Amino acid sequence: MSAGSGGVPRVALRNLHKSFGHLEVLRDIDLEIYPGEVVCVIGPSGSGKSTMLRCINRLEEPTGGSVEIDGEDLMGRGADIDSIRQRVGMVFQQFNLFPHMTALANVALALRRVKGVSKGEADRLGRERLAEVGLADKAESRPAQLSGGQQQRVAIARALAMDPEVMLFDEVTSALDPELVKGVLDVMRGLADRGMTMVIVTHEMGFAREVADRLVFMDEGRIIEDGPPAQLFDAPSSERLRDFLAKIL
Ligand code: ADP
Ligand code: MG
Repeated sequence: MSAGSGGVPRVALRNLHKSFGHLEVLRDIDLEIYPGEVVCVIGPSGSGKSTMLRCINRLEEPTGGSVEIDGEDLMGRGADIDSIRQRVGMVFQQFNLFPHMTALANVALALRRVKGVSKGEADRLGRERLAEVGLADKAESRPAQLSGGQQQRVAIARALAMDPEVMLFDEVTSALDPELVKGVLDVMRGLADRGMTMVIVTHEMGFAREVADRLVFMDEGRIIEDGPPAQLFDAPSSERLRDFLAKIL
């Protein structure tokens, strides 16, 4: 799938600012992500990675600047939060599944509540999405009967069920036992291969190097570098990225 500039960005952050009280967490973020692009975001803890993702689907209200999805200003007065949340899927470090519900019910719930799909149709779509993340045989299992990696894949299926235009992933493998990480990354790699537009905050540098079209390095609320992964990893142009890579690699 070809990715790159040209046309309307799927996601455009322009001059984005976010403060919590006096704490400036995002300063002048400009970022354009094109349909089919996979952008990985790296940076030290506290650099604003999660806040940036949360501004894209309006879990956080930006203090300034704009967020556009397919050219539509989400800060505009008519912006409908429910429709934004359908268009922008998000997966978190903690899976946040309903423990008393089966995997299928977790995936089908939003389809019924938000999209108003009938139970039969929601179940059919839910099973399809579970199959996509390799869990066709776990539809009737409850979260406690699943491994952390399987639970995270249910959370991905749940986000996919809304047919989002872009998927945001915030350190989705950080809470997993090491042997469960690969299964989740494989699902994300499959989505990338099928042309899903994705913004992925991750500490998995091997994955980022291999799967990302672009790598973004953030520090202290700013984008410090933005380019092809090989360029950032092998020839970082800033002292800050060199320091960061020296600490983690
Ligand atoms: P990262 O994901 O890169 O670790 P975050 O976006 O979570 O960084 O946080 C950036 C900064 O914003 C941190 O200093 C964090 O403590 C602060 N922060 C995040 N959310 C809130 C909040 N709701 N209230 C106050 N400060 C916050
Ligand atoms: Mg974070």
